[in-house]
Amino acid sequence: MIRIEKPDSPPELLETEGVDERRSHSVSYVHDPEAYQSGERTFDFDESIYGHESVKSALIEAQHRKCSFCESKVTHVTYGDVEHFRPKAGYRQHPDQKPLQRPGYYWLAYEWTNLFLCCPLCNRRHKRNLFPLRNPEDRAVSHRDEVDEEDPVFLNPGQDDSEEHIGFRGAIAYAKDGSTRGRRTIEALRLNRDALVEVRRDYLDSAFKEIRGLLRLLNSGNLTPEEETSALQLLRRLIEQKRQAAQRDDKQFASMLRDAVEKFEAEIPEE
Ligand SMILES: [Zn+2]
Repeated sequence: MIRIEKPDSPPELLETEGVDERRSHSVSYVHDPEAYQSGERTFDFDESIYGHESVKSALIEAQHRKCSFCESKVTHVTYGDVEHFRPKAGYRQHPDQKPLQRPGYYWLAYEWTNLFLCCPLCNRRHKRNLFPLRNPEDRAVSHRDEVDEEDPVFLNPGQDDSEEHIGFRGAIAYAKDGSTRGRRTIEALRLNRDALVEVRRDYLDSAFKEIRGLLRLLNSGNLTPEEETSALQLLRRLIEQKRQAAQRDDKQFASMLRDAVEKFEAEIPEE
């Protein structure tokens, strides 16, 4: 995960129809809060607003076509989902909590800062309605409450510097410095699911193939001093190229690449 910088101003539709919908939902809620809390009444959210092409393309651009959680390029094979960081229709504090806690963050259904582009696996299969807080008693339960007072367990790609919490050893994500938020985010989104690790491993293997080969050669003891010098020069140049490429947020799995570059830098033999 890397931090996502979205433009400050939301796509127009969210500010027009989205704001109208929010207002109408808030009015309905105030009218009969118990019915919405019990699930007797639920909101009809309009996907043609939050999932509108203009919203999706603004997210695709801000996120460089990558899933906000796993950093896979999502638009190769699918258009990706517009996901609500705070679930709009109901939430769970624990994965096995039943029933779903209602009504959810209905007032954030069309809120720009709450929307992210996400791959279908991270969104539908893994995260779903789970939204634990460190202090559940601080939970905002209606549009009159402040979400800023919440302390969410999951890393918010638009607010948190996720790279301080989640690092990579090779293709495997781990919680840095024992970060609980990093660990819980990895677990809930299954950021080490087999298929994803395999894709990341292949990606790493091909990105660092030449560098690995040079390191093997340098450590073999079979080079003349002249050959060693030029191999070292080449190695440094290649690592520097990779370092610059990995700084780009549009790179698939940028966060993993950044950690890989650091690891290879540390392996450069002394002259
Ligand atoms: Zn994903």
